[in-house]
Amino acid sequence: MASVKVAVRVRPMNRREKELEAKFIIQMEKSKTTITNLKIPEGGTGDTGRERTKTFTYDFSFYSADTKSPDYITQEMVFKTLGTDVVKSAFEGYNACVFAYGQTGSGKSYTMMGNSGDSGLIPRICEGLFSQINETTRWDEASFRTEVSYLEIYNERVRDLLRRKSSKTFNLRVREHPKEGPYVEDLSKHLVQNYGDVEELMDAGNINRTTAATGMNDVSSRSHAIFTIKFTQAKFDSEMPCETVSKIHLVDLAGSERADATGATGVRLKEGGNINKSLVTLGNVISALADLSQDAANPLAKKKQVFVPYRDSVLTWLLKDSLGGNSKTIMIATISPADVNYGETLSTLRYANRAK
Ligand code: ADP
Repeated sequence: MASVKVAVRVRPMNRREKELEAKFIIQMEKSKTTITNLKIPEGGTGDTGRERTKTFTYDFSFYSADTKSPDYITQEMVFKTLGTDVVKSAFEGYNACVFAYGQTGSGKSYTMMGNSGDSGLIPRICEGLFSQINETTRWDEASFRTEVSYLEIYNERVRDLLRRKSSKTFNLRVREHPKEGPYVEDLSKHLVQNYGDVEELMDAGNINRTTAATGMNDVSSRSHAIFTIKFTQAKFDSEMPCETVSKIHLVDLAGSERADATGATGVRLKEGGNINKSLVTLGNVISALADLSQDAANPLAKKKQVFVPYRDSVLTWLLKDSLGGNSKTIMIATISPADVNYGETLSTLRYANRAK
């Protein structure tokens, strides 16, 4: 089983890009994504010997509406292709982690949360989970317990997004339980019965995320948010009671432009540096996992010693139990189609390419 599935999704041109009369530089064919550097002449390699086009292969390459392609993908199709599998594996007892990576404005929130008219992966996965619960409890003697928590990592510090202001909201400690893995001390957990409950908590957390940003611009593009669903199934297996626990982490990452702190100074530099650390470590972790799965696929090769640096950042430490092993990990790289974003888009495509 591939440890990380990678999809690339290109969004339509936005108003600013249209006003700039930006050119479309992304082509997709089946799983291949090609990016063109318009500064390099056709057939030439430019002064620096670089190539005009670069092609990457991922598990999926998705066009969005208005990108001059007839085979664009809708929110519903993204869920069918990637999300249904997450719901299914949660019921089978596996952990999962879904995250979107890309520069600010490339479509991370649209893909993960969506908008009021067209919901994204997170609400669809939650809805899928509850409809499966209702279906199962109708036929089986199973009982379910679903708990959610929502936190934010900013400057390598953890904050509870679902607790009213108290001393136990900011700066929470990350610890590791010998059996149950990493966890956040004092993080609030909330029992939910249906999708409406989840939606309410998610909205409350999102409001907390933005109101804390007073005095600081666009905190959400600089912080990582993790929405976790812990799902416990109690059943009778050959007359014996048994319990299966699975966790789904749905992650909204900081904008990938923060992975490059050049040009920033002072506090900005500190923030940039720390966010850099989480994003860079996430890249290192998924690339180490890709090495491990290649190794496993080749039983005759001498086993490499692959070290997965989970503990190098708060983000990867907390996601440890749902990255690698038997977990389903899905990364969606979101990109702009425009030549004006060439540099950021190429760096996102390269980052996503390390997961293979
Ligand atoms: P990010 O979370 O990466 O900063 P957003 O998700 O907020 O970016 O997207 C920026 C804008 O582009 C939003 O107005 C969003 O509705 C729009 N958008 C993003 N992706 C798509 C898409 N695939 N199809 C249509 N509109 C999109």
